[in-house]
Amino acid sequence: MRIVIENAAIATVDGESEAGTEYENGHVVVNDNVIEAVGPGKADGPADRRIDASGCLVTPGFVNTHHHLYQWATRGYAQQATLFEWLVELYPVWAGIDEPITHAAAVAGLTRLARTGCTTAADHHYVFPRDGGDVFGAMIEAARQVGIRMHAVRGSMDRGESQGGLPPDSIVESLDGALAGTAEAIDRFHDPSPDSFLRVAVGPCSPFSVSDDLMSEAAKLARDKGVRLHTHLAETLDEERQCLDEHGCTPAQLADRLGWLGDDVWLAHGIHFDDDAIARLGATGTGVAHCPTSNSRLGAGIARVQDLVHAGSPVGLGADGAASNEDGSLGIELRQAVYLARLKKGPHSATARDGLWLATMGGAKCLGRANEIGSLEPGKQADLAVWRLDTMAHAGIADPVAALVLGELPPLKLLLAGGSTVVEDGVCQGVDEIEAAAALTAASKRLAEYS
Ligand code: ZN
Repeated sequence: MRIVIENAAIATVDGESEAGTEYENGHVVVNDNVIEAVGPGKADGPADRRIDASGCLVTPGFVNTHHHLYQWATRGYAQQATLFEWLVELYPVWAGIDEPITHAAAVAGLTRLARTGCTTAADHHYVFPRDGGDVFGAMIEAARQVGIRMHAVRGSMDRGESQGGLPPDSIVESLDGALAGTAEAIDRFHDPSPDSFLRVAVGPCSPFSVSDDLMSEAAKLARDKGVRLHTHLAETLDEERQCLDEHGCTPAQLADRLGWLGDDVWLAHGIHFDDDAIARLGATGTGVAHCPTSNSRLGAGIARVQDLVHAGSPVGLGADGAASNEDGSLGIELRQAVYLARLKKGPHSATARDGLWLATMGGAKCLGRANEIGSLEPGKQADLAVWRLDTMAHAGIADPVAALVLGELPPLKLLLAGGSTVVEDGVCQGVDEIEAAAALTAASKRLAEYS
C-alpha cells in the first residue's frame, strides 16, 4: 500500500531541537508501515491512495509520555486541591476500578488522544484492586481497538495507610506480588521490535507510595528484562519535604541512590529540581515527562524544561491522568508548555517550534524510540498527523506551526500510525464514539456509587 500526501506544508522535526526541515509545499510518501520519502513539491511514482492536503500541515504523530487512562472515569473530582489532598480524595474512588470500568475509561481516553494527534501513548497503571480482575489487560485491549502505539507501564504501590502511605491498604500489593505481577506483564505483552505497537515498562508509582526495596528491586527487574523504567518524581514541595524528613535527601538524590537515574529512565513531572539535580539528570540521560496542564491544575509548579534540555535530558510532554487534566488531549499541551516556559523565563525562552519538538522527538527520546518514531524521515515508522488549517480558526496565519501550536488545536484530516488510518476527517476509525461515551458515563456513575 503506497499512500501519497501532497500539496501540504510539512514540519519534519528532523533536527536536534525545534521543527527541523520544513517545506512550505511538499509531499510525504508512505509505503506500508514506513515513510518512503519526504520532500518539496510533488511526489514521484504511482499511489494506491493519493491525498490532496492543500491547506494542511503534516507533522509527526504526537507522543504522550505520561498518562493514567483509568482516570477518565474519575474526572471532575477534587477540583481545588494539592496533589496529596487530591490523592487522598481519589484513592478510595479508584479502589473500585475493575476490567469493564478500566476498558471504558481507556477507550475514551485513547480516542481523545488519537483525535488530538497522538500516535503513541505511555500509560502508567498502578492501581490493582484485589478483586478488580485483569485491569492492565483491559487497558491494553483498548489500545488495540483505538490503534495507536502503547507503552504500558506496569505500575505498583506497596506502601498503604498502615505503612505510612496515602493509599488505602486494599489497593496496594505486597513487594513480592508487585514484582511478580510486573514480570508477568512484561513476559505476556512486551514486544521489543522496531515497529512495535506494544511495549511494557516498569513503574512503581512514586517514592512516597512505594518502599525503597520495591523501587530498587523493580529497577533491577527492568534491567534484567531489558525494558524501560518510569515513576513520578519531584512533583510537589510536599513530596520534597516528606523525602527530606524520611530520607534526609531530595527526591532526585533518593532516585539516584535507588538506581533510578539513567538513559533507560523517564520521570513524570520533574518540577522541583535544583541545579545539581538537573546536571545529574542531564549527565545520566534521564528523561522527563513534562505535564504542564496537570501541573497547573494542581498548582504543583513549573518544570525547568529549558534547563533540563540544555543539560542533556530528553524532555517529552504528557497529558497526565484525566483526573488532573479533564481535557485529556496532548494537542493542547504544546501551547501550555510554551506558555509555562515563558511565564517562568520570559517570552524569548520558548518558541512554537519548541512545543512541537517536545511533543514529537522529545517524547520519542523519552521512550527510547528516537530511531523509530518522532520525526518524518525516510525509514521511520509512518506515524503522522495531517492538520486542517483552512478553516476559520486558522485562516490567515501565515506560519503553519504557529497556527498549530498557538492557535486552537486544528481538526485532523488524517492520522496514521504505522501507515494505518486511526482518524479520518476527525472520526476515530476503531471506535463508535456514541457507544464509548455511554460506556464511560456508566463506568463513572458506577465508580461514584462505589465510593
Ligand atoms: Zn501521573
